Amino acid sequence: MKVLKFGGTSVGTPQRMHEVAGLITRDADPKIVVLSAVSGTTNTLVQIGEHLRAGKQEAAAEVIENLYGKYKDFILQLVKTEHAREMATAVIEEHFGFLMSLKASGFNAAQEKEVLAQGELLSTKLFYAYLQEKQIDSVLLPALDFMVIDDHKEPVLDKIRENLQKQLSSYSGKKLFITQGFICRNPAGEVDNLKRGGSDYSASLIGGVLNAEEVQIWTDISGMHNNDPRIVKNTYPIARLSFDEAAELAYFGAKILHPSSILPAQKFNVPVRLLNTMEPEAAGTLIGEETDSSGVRALAAKDGITAIKIKSSRMLMAYGFLRTVFEIFERYRTPIDMITTSEVAVSVTIDDNTHLAGILNELGKLGQVEVDSKQAIVCLVGYHLVDQKGIVTRALEALHHIPLRMISYGGSKHNVSILIDEKYKTDALTSLHENLFGGVKA
Ligand code: ASP
Ligand code: MG
Repeated sequence: MKVLKFGGTSVGTPQRMHEVAGLITRDADPKIVVLSAVSGTTNTLVQIGEHLRAGKQEAAAEVIENLYGKYKDFILQLVKTEHAREMATAVIEEHFGFLMSLKASGFNAAQEKEVLAQGELLSTKLFYAYLQEKQIDSVLLPALDFMVIDDHKEPVLDKIRENLQKQLSSYSGKKLFITQGFICRNPAGEVDNLKRGGSDYSASLIGGVLNAEEVQIWTDISGMHNNDPRIVKNTYPIARLSFDEAAELAYFGAKILHPSSILPAQKFNVPVRLLNTMEPEAAGTLIGEETDSSGVRALAAKDGITAIKIKSSRMLMAYGFLRTVFEIFERYRTPIDMITTSEVAVSVTIDDNTHLAGILNELGKLGQVEVDSKQAIVCLVGYHLVDQKGIVTRALEALHHIPLRMISYGGSKHNVSILIDEKYKTDALTSLHENLFGGVKA
């Protein structure tokens, strides 16, 4: 079994959906196809939720009406036969009927999540209608019947496996399954989701628990590049990456993959292949246990980072100080990304400021606290990077003209992270690229 995930742009137009149908029927191997919402839809659903939450019934109705119009046009291009048109019309009537039935008064968080789920429900059902029209035998597997999260919003792997296996076994002889990415159920049985961009995670979870042969993530770029192609020229796709390298890259800014999505595949050692719908023959990137070269493989940057420095003479020769600091972040369920320490101070970075005020208040009791917002983590990723000589020297040389706020080296063998002000991000990525990759294809 292979798991193939197609993102929002890959199903973004009726023509693209037709192409996806072509791609998944190139061979008759068993497959589970995971779809995102049509691109732009989830953003629009977020708006609808916000309007309703703010009590703006009319504003919500206008956005819903507009989106409905787009879907009416979409299905005209998607399917041609009467039966398929009827099916597709029924699908959009059902889901837009639901959206239109929502009332701003009493609108609650559970309903808001149900609103967000409509995108994937629509894309998969419409795609299924098209497969029916083309007489491509397939089964629509509702993700809400198998994808479950716990109270900490973590997927419950055993339960997902059990649910999936039960469902799949009831369709013996079937080889093509279509399901929704992103959406799931929480312990209260409500519709929930795996956070924005979570369809990759869905695919990796499904592939992981079923021990699939491979998870394929189809997007509109040919694999993970060695630097951000939107910022730097002459980037190129990396043929092979280890799970660790890919996880670091996804986490530190490579937008192609949802950061959590490597974990389930890695846990069950299922290879993940990144492929391009626009260029299906391109090799893309294969992520697995092994990698094929050494040195710096790629650069990535993540902005919107906040750095917090806690300075305290109590830290001098004392033990237990760091624990006290970490416990504060733990209490606020806020992960720390980078950390550097000196004898009297410790600096950490976070990317989630939701609880910043509470955290700062408590840290203030331990010592003097300084906060720098709008920082960026620039990260160099490579296999056993820190065992190789000269890499940090070259990186720091490339950044000689940029003030460096923190440097983290040796925490993982595969990563060197440098914190700079966000305004230097483009400059830093470009200079590093020239210095480490010579600006040309390696
Ligand atoms: N549709 C969801 C989003 O836009 C999930 C995904 O596309 O991965 O965030
Ligand atoms: Mg995505």
